[in-house]
Amino acid sequence: MTRPRTVLFDIDNTLLYTGGAGGHAMNRAFAELFGVDDGFRKIEFSGRTDLFILQSALKHGEIDGSPHEHMGAFVSTYARLLPESLVQRQGHVLPGFPQLLDLLREAGAQIGLATGNFSEGARLKLEFYELAGHFAGGGFGEVSLERSDVVAAAIREVADGTQPEDVVVVGDTPHDITAALTNGAIGVGVATGNYSVEELRESGAHITFEDFSDHESAAEQLLTFEPGV
Ligand SMILES: [Mg+2]
Repeated sequence: MTRPRTVLFDIDNTLLYTGGAGGHAMNRAFAELFGVDDGFRKIEFSGRTDLFILQSALKHGEIDGSPHEHMGAFVSTYARLLPESLVQRQGHVLPGFPQLLDLLREAGAQIGLATGNFSEGARLKLEFYELAGHFAGGGFGEVSLERSDVVAAAIREVADGTQPEDVVVVGDTPHDITAALTNGAIGVGVATGNYSVEELRESGAHITFEDFSDHESAAEQLLTFEPGV
């Protein structure tokens, strides 16, 4: 490795699979606050920020007020309910973790998060799956309706002094890849969510993986890949 790299990870379907615990707890929080059952049933979660997801559910449920107005109460209710949902839904850490994170850190990379999760939800999920100690901060779902703003915030916080071309963004959806490219970063797709390697490649991913079970090879590629070389 010639220059220090920063590697930013998405959470859901990239680092871990919660078995739908996030959506489950969000539905319960929405019902408790607004008296609407299944408020997120028709809402697409994949690759979206939690603020965008909340906005969609408010619109769909015809609830007055902006997502920013409702966010405080919603996040505290969601955070109270999420631990129980994480226990009920049997999820798991995805292949290659935490080994990939250890290898990147040992090679001198900065490791952070670029996640659509509200920061409180991110913390609870990562603590539950014993991955919380690996990350030096990041960008989170309360930052914006737009994922590219989340990636920009993560770069500002974690990649201080790193050039955008030495920032690597790892995620499981075309939204992760688009957000990486918008910020001039390297986009890495992993097909452990709802999108195939082909779909991630079509969205512009520089590198794609079926999963990170070969964590040594993955670490090498994340640390050395140069766009256009
Ligand atoms: Mg994801």
